[in-house]
Amino acid sequence: MVLSLVSPHTLNHHEHQDHSEKERPKLLLVSFDGFRWDYIYRVPTPNFRSIMDEGVKVEFVENIYITKTYPNHYSMVTGLYAEMHGIVANEMYDPALNLSFSMETDSVYDSRWWEQAVPLWVTVQKDGGRSGAAMWPGSDVLIHGMFPTQYLQYNASVSFETRVQRIIEWFSAPKGEAVDFGILYWEEPDESGHNLGPQSPLMDAIIAGIDEKLGFLMNELKKSGLYEKVNLIVTSDHGMAQLSPEKIIELDQYVDRDLYTWVDKSPVVGILPKEGKFDEVYGLLADANPNLVVYRKDDIPEHFHYQHNVRIMPILLEAKEGWTIMQNRTGLFMLGNHGYNNTLRDMQPIFVARGPAFRQNYVKTSMRSVDLYPLMCHILAIRPLPNNGSLLNVQDLLSLEPTTSTPTSTHFTVPPKIHRYSYAPVVGSFIGVVMVLGFLVVYVILVTLKQRPALKHRSWEMSQPLLQEDLHL
Ligand code: AMP
Ligand code: ZN
Ligand code: ZN
Repeated sequence: MVLSLVSPHTLNHHEHQDHSEKERPKLLLVSFDGFRWDYIYRVPTPNFRSIMDEGVKVEFVENIYITKTYPNHYSMVTGLYAEMHGIVANEMYDPALNLSFSMETDSVYDSRWWEQAVPLWVTVQKDGGRSGAAMWPGSDVLIHGMFPTQYLQYNASVSFETRVQRIIEWFSAPKGEAVDFGILYWEEPDESGHNLGPQSPLMDAIIAGIDEKLGFLMNELKKSGLYEKVNLIVTSDHGMAQLSPEKIIELDQYVDRDLYTWVDKSPVVGILPKEGKFDEVYGLLADANPNLVVYRKDDIPEHFHYQHNVRIMPILLEAKEGWTIMQNRTGLFMLGNHGYNNTLRDMQPIFVARGPAFRQNYVKTSMRSVDLYPLMCHILAIRPLPNNGSLLNVQDLLSLEPTTSTPTSTHFTVPPKIHRYSYAPVVGSFIGVVMVLGFLVVYVILVTLKQRPALKHRSWEMSQPLLQEDLHL
């Protein structure tokens, strides 16, 4: 639950200016739902490759628990773990509000679900900027009194190309109307991953199709003169695991349905025992199946950051990778799923980025998806709200060149400041410590040399009785 107010340089270059006038850096965040980190190695993906060559790529992106769509998309735009931002699952129950949330109902439009956090588009707008959202989860909901400046009402049947056209229009609008921050969401390859299973050879064409969609976006940005101006981040919310009909955990075999309500779906299921039935339900499930991890809420490991929220149920069931939790076998069975432990490699998403703010042809080993928020705030020159991420973890992705074309602007001379603020004090303190230690070492050597004969003698005298005692034993 540690919150960090992100690095001082972000605050510093943000000093009060006339926000309506300032030349703002542009940023477009794209999520291809369920695009696993390794899909780009499976078929030729020339468009992903060209972003990597022109920009950066991160090999290991640890997303947040649980590895589902809504929790992860809200983390990306808040920098918070699920227990902090409150969108703890795709299906939730809030006992304080006595309300249920499902991404399949209008409950998603109830602001109260979203207002434990403030998404970046709201912060950008409060800073005088503008944002445009094409179907990002939560972006068509009134949150803290605001919608994105431009947004589309969620409708899965709106094509990717139409979403891109709208994003391009919003970025290309006349000065004073153009958006600074865009977010674009596409349902694939998640949907096909669920239906076909990630191991299916049919997934190859789906992945190649996503690369073509990315190519379409890049071309549209080029055609409208935005490609060199807009920082483009292409990522995803999670990966996908292969399931098998042989690997089903049937809860009805272990516990009577009348004893509990189940919230959210496999592979991580929240269990709300009926009143007075906690011990019984927990006892029946705890060692029921070797492929089922059963946590009391209080025992959920700290590193999941998935405990301190009323929307997390008293008992949490987590299937091992590839296993499906059902009540019995009559429900819908999918060949691919996600939601599993976020430390599993198969649950991790792609991350590539390019643009004036980014280094070129640079591969970074790892980051956490909560670090994306401070990175984006930095690029947009926005003061981040308290968050679980750290700019220090990802600042090496940034170009050392100032990225604004406005020479008079002091607004975005960020990279040099990173070094001034983050390294100089460390190097200074290090040299100081080394000098003090050096003096101490010299002093101790001199004193030791002076007293050497006496010390030798004393240590012999002191050790004698001990040796004798040992021998007596
Ligand atoms: P998941 O299985 O967790 O990956 O959820 C993916 C599904 O979430 C998509 O296939 C969509 O049906 C749904 N979805 C994504 N964005 C929205 C949205 N803004 N509103 C409603 N449903 C959405
Ligand atoms: Zn998803
Ligand atoms: Zn999915």
